[in-house]
Amino acid sequence: MQTKIYTLSPEDTQHPFLDEAAYILKHGGLVAFPTETVYGLGGSATDSQAAQKIYAAKGRPSDNPLIIHVADPEDASIYAHVNETYQKLAEAFMPGPLTVILPKRDIIPETVTGGLDTVAVRCPSHPLARALIRRAGIAIAAPSANLSGSPSPTSGDHVIRDLSGRIDAIIDGGSSEIGLESTIIKLDGSHATLLRPGAITVDALRCVCEEVTVSPAIKASLAEGERPLSPGMKYKHYAPSSPLVLIDGDENAVLAFFKQAQENESCAILCYREEVSALRNENLIDIGERENLSEQAHNLFSALRQTESMDVRIIYAHLPPEDGLGLALYNRLIRAAAHTVRRV
Ligand code: AMP
Ligand code: MG
Repeated sequence: MQTKIYTLSPEDTQHPFLDEAAYILKHGGLVAFPTETVYGLGGSATDSQAAQKIYAAKGRPSDNPLIIHVADPEDASIYAHVNETYQKLAEAFMPGPLTVILPKRDIIPETVTGGLDTVAVRCPSHPLARALIRRAGIAIAAPSANLSGSPSPTSGDHVIRDLSGRIDAIIDGGSSEIGLESTIIKLDGSHATLLRPGAITVDALRCVCEEVTVSPAIKASLAEGERPLSPGMKYKHYAPSSPLVLIDGDENAVLAFFKQAQENESCAILCYREEVSALRNENLIDIGERENLSEQAHNLFSALRQTESMDVRIIYAHLPPEDGLGLALYNRLIRAAAHTVRRV
């Protein structure tokens, strides 16, 4: 299949390319598009065949449900049974990087929800994403636009590398501002359970929702036979081709460990900006300033993709903090490292 590439800048919301892309979506085709979190691989959320095409293009198991994307937070009620807590969350955080799981309406086929009676809904804030969904006139089911098993894509180039030839079109709109997938919560009345941490932090959610429970699976691996709250939790996540080890310790000890590792081993290092001048350049990736977690989030998936082209035996990175946005970084890295942490 020949994949059309539409290159746009975020302010091109009136561009005729968006009409072409919306036409493809309305007729059952697949279009990858930028969002503020990561790129999404979109298909009509009310078309069960489009959902099947999404699973096939990504190589994703079809019992791992898709998030549906709407142009306006109010549109959620067409596809799901919303409640007062949803409305409060929408007012506080939407459009933006928050996904809410609600009881689904019949218009959403079970192919989209992996057979569940709930549906995950999100209203992205990226202007091209909203303009595209609005033109399509329907909700767009969209998982991250990567091949299953590679890091989520945060640039048009990442999507082109993974999905070119497998889908109808790709809208290249530059790099994703946030760089990590959305926060996902499941709502049971006014009770929220955090299933995936993202840029909307637990503290922010607690300002709006009285009860927020953090699913223990976010930090720990599931025990044998344990039932995951979200189907996605049971799947093996991105694992780099060389093992990743997270290093925990005080500032000086970690830097000393990195220096030693560069002397003794064939390794790649994801370091903080402040450490760059003390380390050798070879196979070194600057992921941002130590205190700037947003910058690290923005760079993380791109950095992990970069390590794939490095011929090294092992990859080292800092163990992120577990509070605020740190929890989202921690969650992605601890999975990529298969929970391997070394204290120094
Ligand atoms: P992705 O599409 O790659 O951003 O991943 C979406 C995540 O949302 C996956 O981990 C899914 O398992 C999860 N998800 C989507 N819909 C539901 C749902 N109805 N109930 C629980 N988890 C869901
Ligand atoms: Mg994904």
